[in-house]
Amino acid sequence: MTSDDRTSVAVVGSTGSIGTQTLDVIAADPDRYRIDSLAAGRSLDQLIEQANAVRPELVAVGDPSLEPALRDAVPAGTEVASGEEGLAECARRADITVNGVVGFAGLPVTLAALESGKRLALANKESLISAGPVVQAARRTPGAELVPVDSEHAAIHQCLRANDVDRRVSRIQVTASGGPFRGRSRDELASVTIEEALAHPTWAMGPKITIDSSTLMNKGLEVIEANELFGAPAGDLGYGLTLDDIEVVVHPQSIVHSMVTYSDGSTIAQLSMPTMMLPIGYALAYPDRFPVAYGTIDWATVGRLDFEAPDLEAFPCLALAYQAAEMGGTAPAWLSAANEVAVEAFLKGGLAWADISGINSETLEKHDGGTGLTLQGVLEGDQQARHHATELLRRAGS
Ligand code: MN
Repeated sequence: MTSDDRTSVAVVGSTGSIGTQTLDVIAADPDRYRIDSLAAGRSLDQLIEQANAVRPELVAVGDPSLEPALRDAVPAGTEVASGEEGLAECARRADITVNGVVGFAGLPVTLAALESGKRLALANKESLISAGPVVQAARRTPGAELVPVDSEHAAIHQCLRANDVDRRVSRIQVTASGGPFRGRSRDELASVTIEEALAHPTWAMGPKITIDSSTLMNKGLEVIEANELFGAPAGDLGYGLTLDDIEVVVHPQSIVHSMVTYSDGSTIAQLSMPTMMLPIGYALAYPDRFPVAYGTIDWATVGRLDFEAPDLEAFPCLALAYQAAEMGGTAPAWLSAANEVAVEAFLKGGLAWADISGINSETLEKHDGGTGLTLQGVLEGDQQARHHATELLRRAGS
């Protein structure tokens, strides 16, 4: 191996929406970054194609049964790994890990990056939401650093940098596009289709998060994510905010990606056109700025910026998220796991859109008070919640 002082990057979830955009962003600054590893769950053909184009040192596939086929198809000399451990190995060795895995399955990658004292560029919000206390402990590893890729949290991260004397933050405003069903009443939402729910007005994303955007569950999960990222005691990992200090503002143009209000009444916002390539570049380059511009605003096209309060009656998942965050422990893990089960059932045609929130709330009601202080506790909570949610689905279907 030749000496190479570029920043090494692990792209985990490389075949998904975040992963493919990360490869494009890195390709825009090849003198500064090199891709050390690529990993995907089970999209083997696309992973092989990427490995032959990018030529990383290590390629991993989540499904262990696919490892032999992967080994046969990557360039000679490429290390190959598989399973949860294979994905975690990618995160242990790179300077920066972009975690673009979908859902709770991203947790081992989140923990491996932080526990190795590396930078985690986190797009996989579910790992932080479900395993809050465990991830917070991992964030204390010397050298560990969590830079959010989720656009709202990347925006908040930027707005917080306007505060260089004291941490006088009083509120955070997380913006929401409102999704494809903004403005519809609960009754009008009774019979929406999968196609309608997948037709997001401003963001092109993977199916899971697109459905979550249509129910506002995504925004709810992002409130919990913001609480984990910025809510810890001031001077520690956070800014001493409580859940009441984190509000959701519907902003249909998706130009203002979130805001921070300071003690003197000033509100600082981050604005750009909706593209994930900006927050990906931000998380790679921080504290520097990525040299290539993404999402530059064309003001004549934008025209206007609108803001309104969310409709909690039509979109009950948002209130459920506040409730789960207030309950603490593994309650957010239960909510997120139930939601993964419900969304999967909806996407397979086995559940009405309007019933996703019911599965989520009934599962959350069964929460056993688990604290989630250990990884084992988090894994058990996730399993129990999935079991309850699956049972609710089965009963609803029969
Ligand atoms: Mn987001």
